[in-house]
Amino acid sequence: MIKGCILPWIHLHGDVKGNYHLCCHIPPSSNPIGNHTEPISTIFNNDAYKEVRKLFLSGKAPDVCKKACYDVEALGGESNRQQVNKRFGKFAKLQDYTNKEGSVSNNPIYLDIRFGNKCNFKCRICGPFASSAWFKDVKKVTKFNNHPFQLEDYYTESPDFWNYLNKIKDSVRHFYFAGGEPLLMDGHYKLLDWLIKNNKTDVELTYNTNLSTLTYKSYDIFNMWQEFDSVKLWPSVDGYKDHCRYGRTNFDWNTFEKNLIKVKKYVDTVSSTVSIYSILTTPELIIYFKNLNISTYLNTLDNPTFMDIRLLPKNIKIKITKKFNLLKRKMPLNEDEIINIDSNVKYLNNNIENKEFLLKQFKQFNSEVDQINKTSFTKTYPELAEWYETI
Ligand code: SF4
Repeated sequence: MIKGCILPWIHLHGDVKGNYHLCCHIPPSSNPIGNHTEPISTIFNNDAYKEVRKLFLSGKAPDVCKKACYDVEALGGESNRQQVNKRFGKFAKLQDYTNKEGSVSNNPIYLDIRFGNKCNFKCRICGPFASSAWFKDVKKVTKFNNHPFQLEDYYTESPDFWNYLNKIKDSVRHFYFAGGEPLLMDGHYKLLDWLIKNNKTDVELTYNTNLSTLTYKSYDIFNMWQEFDSVKLWPSVDGYKDHCRYGRTNFDWNTFEKNLIKVKKYVDTVSSTVSIYSILTTPELIIYFKNLNISTYLNTLDNPTFMDIRLLPKNIKIKITKKFNLLKRKMPLNEDEIINIDSNVKYLNNNIENKEFLLKQFKQFNSEVDQINKTSFTKTYPELAEWYETI
């Protein structure tokens, strides 16, 4: 039985700013647990890591985890903590070997190192910190007014990182790539080249990708993946067709579909973030993928809070709930899919604090982005037009 969360015993996550956090579900603005200016070999057993392990072992949790995971669970959602504890349950024993002061003797097993914020999409739920495509519009969006924006990459050319990788190469078994867009990042390809050169093609590669392209410079990622024993893709698609295009600026359904068919053997599950932009057509999205024999995993959006589905009006919540109920009756969904849908529907039907304030933020942000993108929220979501006009 895992106490709290398994990640502090197996995982190292370096974000796009070169800060280390317990995992990618912790907001990048939180106090980091370390930074790229420190030798990476010291991070996994630094004081902050040791304290976190002791806290979990004593039945408590760090505040950042409470917000990122425990609050989601309390509202009926499935948290990252629950998912990783299921996925990495076999490493539970490592908790028993924790030294008294919180250090561990094992090396990380699971790496999530971000090779920067280069991306060709400008998703509304994202921003310039994680996507370079936002840079040119930063000054036109109030939310990003004081936001520094620059290409970041603290690992691709860091000798410290590559030396460390060499040191832990026998223990590290799982790599997670996300962005930015990992299929457009030099560091990602450098790591695959390194794995191939070091005969480490028996590791598991997992990706969150927008699947907008399968080639980069001289690389053909489809050919490259054939060298590895285990590749799992979690393509990101939020909502069906027009709704996805609206929320994920630069998304093109036809390109996505063409690439999806090509790499289908690697597609484990589609990852769909459930926000105001996507939830109305999430049932259609689930049906589309189910017909291709692909599962859809719904991630409940927790940030930015002003795009949270709990902000939707009651009549729309009822309509969406009915749509999901119909979907459950019509489609042969497995138990995990049903639990995942139910937890999101339960979350949807909760109330949210500071509703008026958040809705104003939503409308301001959305109107500014609509102006930049020459799009219209009310035309894309006619069923929400009346509600939107009254905000
Ligand atoms: S409890 Fe949640 S936020 Fe904390 S490390 Fe685990 S998965 Fe990440």
